[in-house]
Amino acid sequence: MPSALETLVKILKLEKEQGYKNAAVIGGLAAYETNWTPNAHTQARKPDHHALVDELSDLLKRYESIQVRDARLDSITYMLDRIMGRKPTPTPYAERYQTASEAAVTEAVVETKPLRRERERREPQRVEPERIEPEQVEPERVEPERVEPEQTAAPQVHAPEPRRERPPKRQNAPPPQAQKERPRREGGRPPANDDGDDHHRSPSSGGSRMTADDDFSRLDMEFTGGARVPTKIDIPVAPRLARPPRQPRKPIDPDHAASLLHGLNQPVERVRQIGTRLSKVFNQLGVYTINDLLFFIPRRYDDYTRLLPIGRLQTNQMVTVIGTVRHTEIRIGKTARKDFFMVLDDGTGSISVTFFGQFYLQRQLKPGMQIVMRGQTSMWQNRIQMNSPEWEMLDVEELRAASIVPVYRLTEGLNGRKVRLLIKPAIEYWTENLPDYMPEGTLERADLADLGWTIRNLHFPETHDHLNHAQRRIIFDQLITLQLTIMANRRVWQSQPSIPLDVSDEWLDTSLNTLFPYPLTGAQKRAINDVRVDIGKSLPMNRLLQGDVGSGKTAVALAALMMAVANGKQAALMSPTGILAEQHYRNISKAISSLPEPQPRIALLTGSLSAADREATLAAIADGSVNLIIGTHALIQEGVEYHDLALAIIDEQHRFGTEQRGALRGKGTNPHLLVMTATPIPRTLALTLYADLDLSVIDEMPPGRIPVKTRVIDPMYRERAYNFIESQLEQGRQAFVVYPLVEASETIDAENAVESFEKLTRVFYHHKVGLLHGKMKPEEKDQVMADFREHKFDVMVTTSVAEVGVDIPNASVIVIDGANRFGLAQLHQFRGRVGRGGHESYCLLICDSSLQEARDRLHALELTNDGFKLAEIDMQLRGAGNLINTQQSGKSILQLGEAMKLDLVELAQREARTIYEDDPTLEREEHRLLAERIRSLQDQRSDVS
Ligand code: ADP
Ligand code: MG
Repeated sequence: MPSALETLVKILKLEKEQGYKNAAVIGGLAAYETNWTPNAHTQARKPDHHALVDELSDLLKRYESIQVRDARLDSITYMLDRIMGRKPTPTPYAERYQTASEAAVTEAVVETKPLRRERERREPQRVEPERIEPEQVEPERVEPERVEPEQTAAPQVHAPEPRRERPPKRQNAPPPQAQKERPRREGGRPPANDDGDDHHRSPSSGGSRMTADDDFSRLDMEFTGGARVPTKIDIPVAPRLARPPRQPRKPIDPDHAASLLHGLNQPVERVRQIGTRLSKVFNQLGVYTINDLLFFIPRRYDDYTRLLPIGRLQTNQMVTVIGTVRHTEIRIGKTARKDFFMVLDDGTGSISVTFFGQFYLQRQLKPGMQIVMRGQTSMWQNRIQMNSPEWEMLDVEELRAASIVPVYRLTEGLNGRKVRLLIKPAIEYWTENLPDYMPEGTLERADLADLGWTIRNLHFPETHDHLNHAQRRIIFDQLITLQLTIMANRRVWQSQPSIPLDVSDEWLDTSLNTLFPYPLTGAQKRAINDVRVDIGKSLPMNRLLQGDVGSGKTAVALAALMMAVANGKQAALMSPTGILAEQHYRNISKAISSLPEPQPRIALLTGSLSAADREATLAAIADGSVNLIIGTHALIQEGVEYHDLALAIIDEQHRFGTEQRGALRGKGTNPHLLVMTATPIPRTLALTLYADLDLSVIDEMPPGRIPVKTRVIDPMYRERAYNFIESQLEQGRQAFVVYPLVEASETIDAENAVESFEKLTRVFYHHKVGLLHGKMKPEEKDQVMADFREHKFDVMVTTSVAEVGVDIPNASVIVIDGANRFGLAQLHQFRGRVGRGGHESYCLLICDSSLQEARDRLHALELTNDGFKLAEIDMQLRGAGNLINTQQSGKSILQLGEAMKLDLVELAQREARTIYEDDPTLEREEHRLLAERIRSLQDQRSDVS
């Protein structure tokens, strides 16, 4: 592996070759510095190394602010000189590490006195220069072939001193004799070879003509523009933008402002250039109103200032390249799929590109065309290639403008350039006139940009900083409006009283002892107590019970149900699937059979009841002859009338939306509500997403659970995974095999359930294989699950539908093919499908990405069985939005998930509380537009969906 300095040398040279555009690395030198510096520090071995790293780090940071090409050249040359040891360490940097190197100084002055031994004992980690063998490569070494030409040009003056005579570090130290003689090297290496690792030289050594002080002040002038008076600024610089700019607001009549804001709800065809025909096309992209258009967030941005030359591509990079299509052909891929193959060339090199299954591209991509491509590089037969990248025609204008170009989702009839051309004037017009609905105080406290500025920069960002601020504001807006909406709902709902339910200590003790064959865990007891306290009040309970898969949430649910029944009221439990409802029905029936008379009268209500059964059940629910009702969505359908429903529980909340919660509340006399979820979301996020819920967490597993053994494996070892399954099947166990896709996709090259089902039927020909996926009808799904539980077949081939908590105690192995395509929390859910029957159980994760990050992420599952920890990791890696979106049944309510960081979630939470506590109904003048905004967002959501 090249050292940090070696890599930096490469980059600096590339920067030079490319004409000092700060484009040698994506993100520029300053962005590169953030990772480089800590890395380089870990490789540094001596105080001088650290001083060098510090100095380079400062120079890299400053680089983009240099506005004159020659000054950039000087800066690069200086950095290279410093790395090669041709320039001494400037005093301020040297001094930083002086204390640390005091001992070294002493030693250098007194030469090799016995003191050395003493010091060695004190600081054993220090590598002594005396003991470095010529072969011993220091991490900082620069390879001979990369030595600068200038370096050999002036060897005499800048000759590095021999290592054996290490010069003193102190400024006023006597000059070392090294200056007088040419160094002699052991091992016969060329002198240039050593330049790279001699940068530990001290300021006063190395034959520098200037004192370090002079040197530094010269530098300083250079970078502040003092030394060279810039005659003309020849490099357009991107200004860094630490804080988003905010303009004073124009005084505007509040009614007028509200009506302007309301204007956003106009259909998109009102935009002059769009009109009726194009608006239909936009509709297909989910853009119906002007608001949708303004918030039609680009999928990504192509930064034409930071393109990589193809010749410099490395494997496993996410890159954008520009080039000319050189050669195209259709190739027959696996399973007779027709793939489109092409070569892209930009003069520095060429890259092969394959589009799986997209043979029709042959008609669109012709040799000679110039295109922009973005995708992941990989290595195939020693060549860099890309598979199914995104692409679009190159717009030379945009390239020339060297701007950051938004890339939108497209559909037939709209290309990227056209969307940009249509959106730009609309944005300009609207952002000019749009009043900002966010209170100024909030923007001030949260340090957020103005609305108009935000929308402009969201589409056409001036710099990456601008984009970053714009994204923050958008995410903040989404979170705070979501939260204020939820809090308002809670308020309305809590304004009606519920029936307080009374639970005595004796009753609770006896019931818990009879209901459960095992002692409850401390966490279960705490949760039960939370519920008990809540339902004792006339304020309706609204509680979220969060607990990892298998943590025993059902026991808490059962205890709660019993509390309501013991009070002579009805209680209901709603599950996302029929099969889960039946499972609860069976288990709960068994548990209550041990209770003394009068026992609860239990009923099951699902979609698969016969008409007659359904009618009878509905009648029994309505007249109160059953008081414990287990079911599915059927529980909240029209026509279901409860006698006196006092408590409702929702299992696996993430499979339901807030509407279902609302529907349940509408039944009975404002029942107490308990919702349960196994998806472990970090607390902060739970508080935002469920701002109307109080939280109980089961953070303790029932004793004796054997952790599921988890391994990440390469697709190459798929057969081994099958062998392993086979061996488990031989022992009478069952297995799950999970795929990211139901069917083959044209654009995603991942394994799919339907095709794999065919294959696995052949692989496991001794056994029976079944198929379950989301495109099947609910009854079909229930049937397959029931058959699997009854062991009518051995291997279940499935998709993410298998995530929900069905108990198959006999299943001992789950293989997830393409595991990298799922979130960690979701994978953890899958894993929870096995290990429920006391058998040693296994989870095999097949990672079909060659990206190291993908593997590292999956690796977390090998290391921990703690769902909360995994959710935290997931959130850090993939942003909070991903977790939120998987929480909300299907429909994505929040955009920019990746950029949603925890600090923003907290910020929005804090501001929402501040606003709500101050003015819960948003009636004040300064909240009026915000209220208007929330209302119109709600209208929009219900219109479109
Ligand atoms: P989940 O939280 O995923 O819904 P369940 O309620 O289905 O978990 O419980 C998983 C398993 O753990 C069940 O078989 C249940 O009987 C068992 N269980 C629950 N609580 C305890 C406990 N305190 N001690 C032992 N086993 C328990
Ligand atoms: Mg459960």
